[in-house]
Formats: sequence, C-alpha cells, structure tokens
Amino acid sequence: MKYSDLLNITQEHGNPVYVYDAEKIISQFNRLTNAFSTVKNLKLNYAAKALSNLAILKLMNKLGSGLDTVSIQEVKLGLLAGFKPESIIYTPNGVSLEEIEAAAALGVRINIDNLSILEQFGSTHPDIPVCIRINPHVMAGGNSNISVGHIDSKFGVSIHQIPHLLRIVELTKMKINGIHMHTGSDILDIDVFLYASEILFETAKNFKELDFIDFGSGFKVPYKNGDIETNIEELGEKLSKRFNEFCEGYGKELTLAFEPGKFLVSEAGYFLAKVNVVKQTTSTVFASVDSGFNHLIRPMLYGANHQIINISNPKGRERYYSVVGYICETDTFANNRRINEITEGDILCFKNAGAYCFTMASNYNSRYRPAEVLWYQGKSLLIRERESFDDLIRNQIDVKDLFETKNQKVAVK
Ligand SMILES: *Cc1c(COP(=O)(O)O)cnc(C)c1O
Repeated sequence: MKYSDLLNITQEHGNPVYVYDAEKIISQFNRLTNAFSTVKNLKLNYAAKALSNLAILKLMNKLGSGLDTVSIQEVKLGLLAGFKPESIIYTPNGVSLEEIEAAAALGVRINIDNLSILEQFGSTHPDIPVCIRINPHVMAGGNSNISVGHIDSKFGVSIHQIPHLLRIVELTKMKINGIHMHTGSDILDIDVFLYASEILFETAKNFKELDFIDFGSGFKVPYKNGDIETNIEELGEKLSKRFNEFCEGYGKELTLAFEPGKFLVSEAGYFLAKVNVVKQTTSTVFASVDSGFNHLIRPMLYGANHQIINISNPKGRERYYSVVGYICETDTFANNRRINEITEGDILCFKNAGAYCFTMASNYNSRYRPAEVLWYQGKSLLIRERESFDDLIRNQIDVKDLFETKNQKVAVK
C-alpha cells in the first residue's frame, strides 16, 4: 500500500485506525500453498485469534482456507463468516468439557490437548472422532512466552505419555482422526521444525484411522530490517518430501494441515495513529500518539519491534524519538528509534499490525477501540466502526439511586 493511501484512510475514517491490505493476505496464502504444491491434500486453517474480523474470516474462507479456533466464540464467528463446520478445527487449551461438547455439537473438528478431557470425552462420545495435540518437547524460537512446545509448556499431551494415551483410546474405542502439534510462534530453524515433525510422524504410526496430520504454525515473518524469516520454500520442499514418504508407508494419502496466523495477516496490517505531543526532555524526545498499549500491546507484552514510519513526512531528516502512547501507564512503542522528523499532527504508521494487534486491544483508560478498514482492489472499506461511549457502558448496570437512600447519607470521612 502507498503511504498516500494510508493517509487518505485517516482522513476518511479518522484515527487511530487499523488497515488491512487484502492483496497481501492473498499473496501470503498463495505463497504458502505453492511451497507445498507437491503434497496432494494440503489444508491451511487460518488461526482466527490473530485477527478475527468477519471480513478477514470471509476472505480466508473465499481463499479456500479452513479456520483454527481456540474458543467456542471463535467457532461461532467462523460459522457466521460462512465456514462449513468441517472446515473449522477447535484447538482449545484448558477449557471445560462442556465447552468442548458444545463445539462438537456444532459439528466442528475437535482437537484435545490433555488426557483428562480425552478420557472423559472418549467415554461419553466414542463416536465423535478427535484429533490429539501432542507436545514434542521441542523448543522453537527464543521467547519462552511464545514457545509452547517445550517441556514446561502447558500445551499438548507429552510424547512421554503416549502409552497412557493409547490405553485411553483403546479402552474408550474412540476414533483418532488427526495428530497435531503447535510448537509456538517464530520458527527460526527449519531443522528444529523438521525434527519435531519426525516425532509427530512416529506418534502418528500408533493410529490407524488418521485423516490428517497438523503441523501447527510458528512461521516467522520479518518485523524489522534484517530480521530472519522462516524460509517457507525450503520448509515446503523438505517437509513435503517427508510427508509424502510417510503417507506411502502409512498406506493412505493424509491431509497435511497448518494453522498459520501471523504469516497470513501480520504484514498486511498497518496501525495509524496521530502524534498529539512532541516533548523534549533532558534525555530524549518523546512523540506521544493518540493510542497506547490499549490498542497495540505487543511492544509492551513481548518486547515486539514494530517498525514505525512517519507517513506525513516520509522524506524528512531522520532523528531519534521515543514513541509513546497517551494512557496513564508506561506504554512505550519504541525507544530511540530513528524516524523522519515528527511534527505534532503527523500520522505515524506501525507496520506488521495485522496479527495479535486489534484482537488484543482493550478499553483500558476507558478509551475506544479503533476502527478497522479493509483495503481491497484499490478501495478502503470500513469493517469495524470505532467504538463510542455507548460501547463503554453497554453492559454496565445502573445502580440508580442506590447511594441516595432518603434518610441515609453515604458516609464520607
Ligand atoms: C496461535 C496459534 C496458531 C497461530 O500461530 P501463528 O504464530 O500466529 O502462526 C496456530 N495454532 C494454534 C493452536 C495456536 O494457538
């Protein structure tokens, strides 16, 4: 997208605002699909939690993607967006048996990640096939908050528990239709991923009625200049070969599934905020925007580095700035970043704002969540209105004159 297009969007829809470039989502989808072109049955299940606006879900559905969901609410959003139940996989962690049963009743695929629920679900619904999430205990990426396959992770059934798992399956006579892993975000080393895949293949051999093997996600995309990204083409070539070999040995053409979130939508997203104040202190120059971690929490939560561009002055002289928000809390977006000279009123563009940005936004400081805009075929389309005061009080219950009882005043010290 051109900076001028983004600027026009702030004029039309105000700020702060999230913008998603549909073409980028489509090209990422095609790139991943092409990387696995030698696999007969490939299924990409877009991870809804990355960005769950219905327009984005509809686009994914149109592209032929399935949907990876982690809550019954995401399942319902997927159905509302038009996904067929069988195109939705429900991969929760730590949810109640009741919620899993409710998802099963909607006809979606069920992925279970602990033996307790597996045993209970298998005992009562032996006829409903389920997928099992395995924890291969492989460390992917460097950040233990986003690496979920390691030994202390809460996710998945440990490979060391396979004997117990097999006993449950045998006793309940339940059908296992898939084997799954998700080692976490940020695959830096393809060999590590392939190593985890081998563990999954070994595990899969224990089950005779599989339809698919799901390799989760964790494809890394570049956030700043010089970042390493997952080499999708190399991964595609190597894993496809191994997958096809496995299927031959297994005696059935299984489906190879992935659940990419970040890879599909991160780079398609732009977050646009206006600079309210430029404040020179003794040690730095702050640029305060009309936003904060209530709208984009990744820098504060993960130390994520989102590139920031002054699209109002993209050719200006570069200076060092600390970009911060307007909420009453430390909400630093970037420290000592070189950005083209900023004047109050300029629009800053935060890149890679498609994944885990709007979906993690809150109303902290009683601020409104931003609007969302889709950029498609050279036009901008509002896909979520900015919130209003009514949204802040929608579910609150007015206590009316509770504190105004006739003869009794609320004690004020
Ligand atoms: C979050 C999540 C994903 C998506 O991960 P990305 O790093 O965004 O691609 C996939 N599968 C599961 C089970 C997840 O929880």
